[in-house]
Amino acid sequence: AVVVHRRMKKSGKWVKAMEIVKDFEIKCSTPISRLRQVCDAMIVEMHAGLASEGGSKLKMLISYVDSLPTGKEKGLFYALDLGGTNFRVLRLQLGGKGHGILNQQFVEVSIPPSLMTGDSSDALFDFIVAKLAKFIAQEGLDFKTTPGRQRELGFTFSFPVVQTSIASGTLLKWTKGFSINEAVGRDVVAELTKAMERHGLDMRVSALVNDTVGTLAGGRFANKDVVAAVILGTGSNAAYVERASAIPKWHGPLPRSGEMVINMEWGNFKSAHLPLSEYDLEMDADSLNPGDQIYEKVMSGMYLGEIVRRVLSWLAQEAAFFGDTVPPKLKVPFILGTPAISAMHQDTTPDLKVVTNHIKDIFEISNTSLKMRKVIVQICSIVATRGARLSAAGVLSILRKMGRDTIKEGEKHRTVIAMDGGLYEHYTKYRKCLENCLNELLGKDVFETIVLELSSDGSGIGAAILAASHSKYLGSDDD
Ligand code: BGC
Ligand code: MG
Repeated sequence: AVVVHRRMKKSGKWVKAMEIVKDFEIKCSTPISRLRQVCDAMIVEMHAGLASEGGSKLKMLISYVDSLPTGKEKGLFYALDLGGTNFRVLRLQLGGKGHGILNQQFVEVSIPPSLMTGDSSDALFDFIVAKLAKFIAQEGLDFKTTPGRQRELGFTFSFPVVQTSIASGTLLKWTKGFSINEAVGRDVVAELTKAMERHGLDMRVSALVNDTVGTLAGGRFANKDVVAAVILGTGSNAAYVERASAIPKWHGPLPRSGEMVINMEWGNFKSAHLPLSEYDLEMDADSLNPGDQIYEKVMSGMYLGEIVRRVLSWLAQEAAFFGDTVPPKLKVPFILGTPAISAMHQDTTPDLKVVTNHIKDIFEISNTSLKMRKVIVQICSIVATRGARLSAAGVLSILRKMGRDTIKEGEKHRTVIAMDGGLYEHYTKYRKCLENCLNELLGKDVFETIVLELSSDGSGIGAAILAASHSKYLGSDDD
């Protein structure tokens, strides 16, 4: 065991611990004035990213989705949703105008970690396609295929991709827990298609979409007021509907709708205004993608628990917080997941029993006092609060860019943002904090025109619907 170098008196240790926590809290603080600076900086980057390819750390990727679902989409379509630790395969029977989704089915498979960071992209795609092939082979009679018609698939691929059409695009870089060098720079649809050929699976990818774009499309299918989507899950990102004439880097024909969905890749936002502590900087330096995805690293599910772990580990080392030795499990990167900090942060038992149990199960530390557990809850709260408030600043940026942050005279609109991701869905305090902060930023009157709508697994559904609207057959009523 690592011995704590400074053997301090008990009271001295506590003073030191409180100092460390206080210092961390200050470094993470997000007063409204600072959030406004973050928002201003993000808007500057949004403009720069729209102006030219590579103009900003904010990629503002063109999705090639220039018309969102109308509700008239019809037929049997599939989706493959890859982006977190699990992937999903689904089928959707769309009924056409007025009928919505008639039937849907999905399977979820977790991805072996070895494939996420392996050398071979074939290995990953073969794994995925094997599951897809199995899913297709087990299709029941309640789904109606049309004889002679090739099956069509929407591919939700939740990483930064520069698209070259609605159904092709090259991977810029991996994020989250993925890192397969060979795949960077390749067309991910071509890779998927080759894997399908290797498996003798006859399917056509008719739409390649980011999960934010899928969520936006799925949200719009259900509700015509949806104009943006935000993912707060393992990673974080947002997409919104932009005026095509406001995208200088778009040299294609002006779409009939006059609109284009932009995948912001906001996770890669970075600004001197972001409140970062040494724990964040060290986590970044040790990550698979140092220097990248800084905004994502302070607010998304993959990282919140890890930041808390780093603070606890420092407390153990510098203030003998857990006794005279540092419990070894505290040194294991990513051992503390965000579900655990969510559970501890929301512990309502008077003696913080949930915290006791988590600390025991995860770190094998069994002698915490109530006072210590309160400090642990406080650290979870600091990290979650900063993340939630920074994500509110991101939402404000989108609203401002779309001109939805004020109420214009005589105009009455509702702005709906489709939200998805485990962090948003399951971490209630995070979600509430985001909403309260947005209310604070916008003022009550404007806030009342904004709806954040949970759209669970909208990304896969949206991709299948976009596969329908980009079908080579008749994919909707009145095509
Ligand atoms: C990826 C985005 C994705 C987001 C949420 C980020 O790490 O870069 O493409 O939308 O995670 O899944
Ligand atoms: Mg997802």
